[in-house]
Amino acid sequence: MPIPPRVLTVAGSDSGGGAGIQADLKTMLALGVHGMSVVTAVTAQNSRGVQGSWPLPAETVRAQFRSVVDDIGVQAVKTGMLASAELVETVAGLLAGVHAPVVVDPVGVSKHGAPLLAASALDAVRGRLLPLATVATPNLDEVAWLTGVRVVVEADLRKAADAVLAFGPEWALIKGGHLDGPDAVDLLTDGEEEYWLRAVRHPNRHTHGTGCTLASAIASGLAKGYPVPESVTRAKDYVTGAIAAGFPLGGGIGPVDHGW
Ligand code: PLP
Repeated sequence: MPIPPRVLTVAGSDSGGGAGIQADLKTMLALGVHGMSVVTAVTAQNSRGVQGSWPLPAETVRAQFRSVVDDIGVQAVKTGMLASAELVETVAGLLAGVHAPVVVDPVGVSKHGAPLLAASALDAVRGRLLPLATVATPNLDEVAWLTGVRVVVEADLRKAADAVLAFGPEWALIKGGHLDGPDAVDLLTDGEEEYWLRAVRHPNRHTHGTGCTLASAIASGLAKGYPVPESVTRAKDYVTGAIAAGFPLGGGIGPVDHGW
């Protein structure tokens, strides 16, 4: 019996099933890897927004991580919502002992504006988590938060990438999806190689879970043994299809679709 690559998501739960742990596991299933989860926070959430958010104790996060890593093993890890400085420090400490690529999605604020990371955790993300990343995947709001660089036009993406790389990840994927223009443009670079990734923008507002899905798809590619540029290109194709197929649910912003 062939054993699929194993991918771990360390992230928050979205009760609405569109983002967070739930999006991560759906992505992993769709991409043929075995998904596992360390839940960092529970959110009460739906298409209209985040109604409540409860970080779990560091001990609970540590125990889940040890259970998975010490028995099943991981070929790649993805981190998402980490909620607090204490949990960022805890997860960074755990990741330091793991020999597998790590995709860090430095989740800050939800599409509806709900804070998913305490402002007091920013230094820990910069100083402890980003140096461990094989790929860091900030969007433009997260770039501004982490580095102070404001991206206004496409050419600014390079400046943003340099500022993120200064914190120590091997690769930075700057997601320019919120810029104006007919294409959604991202820049992937390790400071030497540079890939500009373009996809036609789909006029679909049901995009809840986009960032989680992209980062999980990258981790799935890395776990299968693809190099970073190919993992990211494949992940971008996957998320572009998922956005195109996003569907209305509830009264607000619906989720991307993993069954397309
Ligand atoms: N909820 C959780 C638990 C998340 O991890 C994230 C994003 O990473 C979100 C909500 C926000 O998702 P979106 O901004 O796509 O609506």
